[in-house]
Amino acid sequence: MLLEVKNLSVAFENDEGDLHTAAESVSFELDRGETLCLVGESGSGKSTVAMSIPRLLPSPPSHVTGGEIWLDGQELVKMPVKELRHIRGAKIGVVFQDPMDALSPLHNVGDQLMETVLLHRDISKAAARAMALEWLEKVGIPQPELRLKALPHELSGGMRQRVMIAMALMLEPDLLIADEPTTALDVTVQAQVLRLMKRLCSNKNGVLFITHDMGVVSQMATRLCVMKNGRIVEKSTDPAAFFKSPVHPYSKELLAAAS
Ligand code: ADP
Ligand code: MG
Repeated sequence: MLLEVKNLSVAFENDEGDLHTAAESVSFELDRGETLCLVGESGSGKSTVAMSIPRLLPSPPSHVTGGEIWLDGQELVKMPVKELRHIRGAKIGVVFQDPMDALSPLHNVGDQLMETVLLHRDISKAAARAMALEWLEKVGIPQPELRLKALPHELSGGMRQRVMIAMALMLEPDLLIADEPTTALDVTVQAQVLRLMKRLCSNKNGVLFITHDMGVVSQMATRLCVMKNGRIVEKSTDPAAFFKSPVHPYSKELLAAAS
């Protein structure tokens, strides 16, 4: 198994120092070549779980209060930060809902893509530039030579999302985490970006895809987990069967709301 999350619990500390549980005893697994969709309404704990994997949640206020996360045989919850830095980017790529969470507004996209490569690979600047160009092409950015010099705000939302997907995938991570990557895009662009992600993800990597959109789940998932109030209430390794006959009342509600 590529990723095993075992009984993960995460809490947030408030100003008084009290802990509020955002994820409770969450367990799931994901193999290469699979897309696991984590679904549930806003506030159900999806991002908390996903961002705990590469430890991208600031601590404090967040605390992992229990559980283990195994990626390709390495446990991440207790891994020293220095080692974790090699894992982030190289073994785990992340696509956020808002590309500006990953892109700097001050540097052109070519430099940012090159920096990602140079941080993790021992290659020349020219080779890194060639990779940046290759990936802009792969994610369908027109006139990639020109776009290398563009600042993020000079691109449309859909194009920015493509750049972030390039950045997340160019190091060929084992795990891609995509947290509502298309929620902020309009419908036609959403469909393009979903197709792109499907095309670029291979049998070599697993995808953890977070969404509250059941239509997206039906397109992407090979496995799914339904979350409510920080807990997984239903899991399925057969999305077609799930859509036909969901078991948990909350899953039924979600599906009814989507149809
Ligand atoms: P989802 O991604 O499903 O919308 P989140 O994981 O963002 O849900 O949030 C789960 C719960 O954790 C919510 O109650 C939210 O208020 C809380 N939470 C998330 N981030 C923080 C934070 N930085 N500080 C305090 N509470 C947070
Ligand atoms: Mg979220």
